[in-house]
Amino acid sequence: MSEHAVNPWVAIAYLVAGIFFILALRGLSHPTASRRGNRFGMAGMLIAVVTTLVTHVIASLPEMLIAIALGAVIGLTTARKIAMTAMPQLVAAFHSLVGLAAVLVATAAFLDPGGFGIVDAAGNILAVSRVELMLGAAIGAITFSGSVIAFAKLNGNMSGAPILLPGRHVINLGTIVAILGITAFYAAVPQAAAGEGWMFWTALALAFAVGFLLIIPIGGADMPVVVSMLNSYSGWAAAAMGFTLHNTAMIITGALVGASGAILSYIMCRAMNRSFISVIAGGFGAESGSGAEGERIDRPWKRGSAEDAAWIMKEAQQVIIIPGYGMAVAQAQHVLREMGDLLKAQGVTVKYAIHPVAGRMPGHMNVLLAEANVPYDDVFELEDINGEFAQTDVAFIIGANDVVNPAAKTDRSSPIYGMPVFDVEKAKAIFFIKRSMSGVGYAGVDNEVFYMDQTMMLLADAKKMVEDVVKALQH
Ligand code: NDP
Repeated sequence: MSEHAVNPWVAIAYLVAGIFFILALRGLSHPTASRRGNRFGMAGMLIAVVTTLVTHVIASLPEMLIAIALGAVIGLTTARKIAMTAMPQLVAAFHSLVGLAAVLVATAAFLDPGGFGIVDAAGNILAVSRVELMLGAAIGAITFSGSVIAFAKLNGNMSGAPILLPGRHVINLGTIVAILGITAFYAAVPQAAAGEGWMFWTALALAFAVGFLLIIPIGGADMPVVVSMLNSYSGWAAAAMGFTLHNTAMIITGALVGASGAILSYIMCRAMNRSFISVIAGGFGAESGSGAEGERIDRPWKRGSAEDAAWIMKEAQQVIIIPGYGMAVAQAQHVLREMGDLLKAQGVTVKYAIHPVAGRMPGHMNVLLAEANVPYDDVFELEDINGEFAQTDVAFIIGANDVVNPAAKTDRSSPIYGMPVFDVEKAKAIFFIKRSMSGVGYAGVDNEVFYMDQTMMLLADAKKMVEDVVKALQH
């Protein structure tokens, strides 16, 4: 089953696969190169899988082919059917599978260590393998239960509001320390003294609980960090299993996923103004179940029309478009680009402003705008454009909400407090597209921008509204 005597060809093939994975990550760092990056990733995975299959006696060929065919059919159907708006929960579901796979591999190795070649002459599991097993199983279990909760929150099966247990930091820390303590003890004592495996099963059960406990307190706008953090965990779980299986390809791939996920989590934390450590510890964000949701009172606001928007925008010098989750729901990106082009043809400077957590997955807005062929030069990141709102005539908000909510700057009790947001309130005029005044953003809080003097609410489905603006611009 395992290949202890390293066959140089296998090592070379895995190395080549590793190089393809690095090229894939490099490609994925920019929208223009992302397709190429994906192709590198697929090629690397093909090399790794074929090498593993031909050099290991894993199962009979027909069994393997049936498993591959089944997986391919499920993967293809899911990829074809899934709506872009459901991508985050799909990613969470995939992470849970990686975690579960790590748990299953660790359990199989624990139950049949001889088959995995991790025993000494006396038949005891090697000390180093015990550590790898326990860590792989624990990280896998945390990834699994954490991802299941993330899936349920993102998919709407459970409320996105934080569930804050009293003393949760102490409980989380205590459980993690217990897992590490059991692992150390299990590695240190001879196997005969380690009993009938209660240590493995206890650590596994505690790890499932930790995943659950770490994710239930996450609420408000903090889910993006969690998704990338679970991505990282799934990589480390796979790497740990690579050690158990003596499979270099898994170690390399796992480490790449783990490290890139950690870097992404760090970037997201910076974007959200959250501390990296508190994310890893779980339960950051709202300290109380606060938020302005319950405090909403009837306040005056102005309703605008597509004609108002068209008329004011074509007179403008600069329009900044802020897309958000609602643009993805409405699939309004193509008609939005058409609107941008029409305005540009009238001499208006049009810029697209992208918040790092707009939408429901990292890079969500970049992908949609790229799909609609919005020129990359017109697309700006938060920190590059935020200074421009004061000199901008129109902020055109389409399906965004939390990322333009000034409560993040002013209201300490808000679940999004501390997250950098676009300074749209500095623009001379604001058009705000959403479907109703009662709808809220992901964080579930009211938004002061609705009621500002210079704001006109454009209440409709985003695609329909922009189509009407386009028609009005053409007249
Ligand atoms: P929000 O979720 O804050 O707001 C979405 C807005 O779109 C709402 O105002 C909603 O109002 C409107 N909307 C929904 N459907 C339509 C439609 N068909 N037509 C017009 N409007 C529509 O979006 P943002 O992009 O501003 O913020 C993203 C939020 O999601 C942040 O809180 C972020 O932390 C969180 N998040 C981000 C992830 C990521 O990785 N990027 C992952 C998970 C969460 P109405 O219902 O009235 O139409």
